[in-house]
Amino acid sequence: MRTELATAATKRRYRLGSSAREHGSTGPSASRAVLPVVVAGAILLGFAVADFVLHYWSSHPVAGVLALLAAAITAEAFPVPIEGVAAGRTSLATIFIVGAAVEYGWAAAAIVGFGTMLIVELASRRSIDRVSYNASLYTLAGGAAGFGTTLSRGDDLGSLAAAAVFGSTGFYVVDILLLTWVITRSRSQPFFPWFRRAMMSTAAPFAVMASLAVILVVLWSRSPFAAVALVGPLVVIALYQRRVHGVLESLRELDRLKNEFIAVVSHELRTPITSVYGAAVTLERAKVDPEKRESLLQVIYGESLRLVRLVDQVLWASRVETARVEPRIHAWDAEELAATVVSAARTHLPANLTLELRTHASLPPVAADREKANQILVNLVENAVKYSPNGGRIGVLVSRVDGRIRFAVSDEGLGIPDQDQERIFEKFQRLDPDLARGVGGTGLGLFICRELVSQMNGTLTVESKEGDGSTFAFDLPVA
Ligand code: ADP
Repeated sequence: MRTELATAATKRRYRLGSSAREHGSTGPSASRAVLPVVVAGAILLGFAVADFVLHYWSSHPVAGVLALLAAAITAEAFPVPIEGVAAGRTSLATIFIVGAAVEYGWAAAAIVGFGTMLIVELASRRSIDRVSYNASLYTLAGGAAGFGTTLSRGDDLGSLAAAAVFGSTGFYVVDILLLTWVITRSRSQPFFPWFRRAMMSTAAPFAVMASLAVILVVLWSRSPFAAVALVGPLVVIALYQRRVHGVLESLRELDRLKNEFIAVVSHELRTPITSVYGAAVTLERAKVDPEKRESLLQVIYGESLRLVRLVDQVLWASRVETARVEPRIHAWDAEELAATVVSAARTHLPANLTLELRTHASLPPVAADREKANQILVNLVENAVKYSPNGGRIGVLVSRVDGRIRFAVSDEGLGIPDQDQERIFEKFQRLDPDLARGVGGTGLGLFICRELVSQMNGTLTVESKEGDGSTFAFDLPVA
């Protein structure tokens, strides 16, 4: 059984390796811990190959070993996530390596272990030191499985089952021992607490693996062909588990995003409420001159609008998902809509920003829902303003592209890193959930915009460079 502990160990090792290089030192403790495993694995592999060639080299075991190797490689390439097992995905390859140990001895198990990990790691284009580490680990664990099986001799059902259990135990103990050793050495942490935790967290998959190994060897002793019957249920269980795990993972991610959303929305609600409350109290208590009174009323007006927009956004987000709101398609003038949105935005534009509108000459009317197009454009312009905290130019361009009308909003603001340009259109996704840049928002605006655009048979896209600004554009059909 290989778990993600192996991955954790090797990842950790690389981090230590690079930081050691940065600091000009060599020989990190992780390398010192890994090297003995690789050397021991190489020595055992040498003996295993010699033993196999000397004692078992006949066509029958070779075919059997190759069949088990193929099964182990497949199982290793598609590890199964087991819910509640913190160590990560579990590879079912152990079953076939133990099968090789019971049927053909320790040398065959070590070779199958080595070959499995070598091929899977090379196919995944891992670095050479990681390949050699993991392949050595499986060679040693395969050898241990072989020695475990020697504790039970005999061909009767009970002896075979016991051999499979002893073999699985040998593999498991060596696997966990070596991984724990490497991890604790590289992190300079005590060995035994880690070892106990690793054994406890992987006990359930070990039990499953040992029972499957028993079934495999019992079937195999009858006929290797009968053992093939095990493949069907194993594949189904593996696929089912992967699917369930995928669904659970996305639910967990959504739950995390919702928690983040609640925190952001609470903050977003609190700020305008505090301003409205403060302005109202001042108006009520103090004697205020008409000018001050006017500016306090403006605060109340502006902040109430902000609150309404926020609540609207939350309502819209749940509505676009649960019920498709049919767009009311009719013909209207794109230039006129853009001009209205731009002049409304200019009334509260920060002093360090300019907002320009450019339109192609004689544009044909658009066939879409005007109210929704207005909502989308307002949102994009508001985002351009919000995410340009250092000022700059914002441009709205209405043009005709490929027989459609294209609305594009460009800014010279914060920009969006390449890897985030798709996820910002998902629900609750914000690049700055902790409000570190001080710009608030719910992460719902672009999600709603994309839904609305697609309801009108259009597409909403982004082009952006981090630090240089962004262009959001959507297109709508011509009437
Ligand atoms: P929000 O309410 O957070 O603004 P949106 O769905 O409108 O939600 O945007 C999602 C995220 O995309 C924002 O939190 C922000 O990080 C990023 N974003 C949106 N528009 C821009 C823009 N014009 N420039 C830079 N980042 C943007």
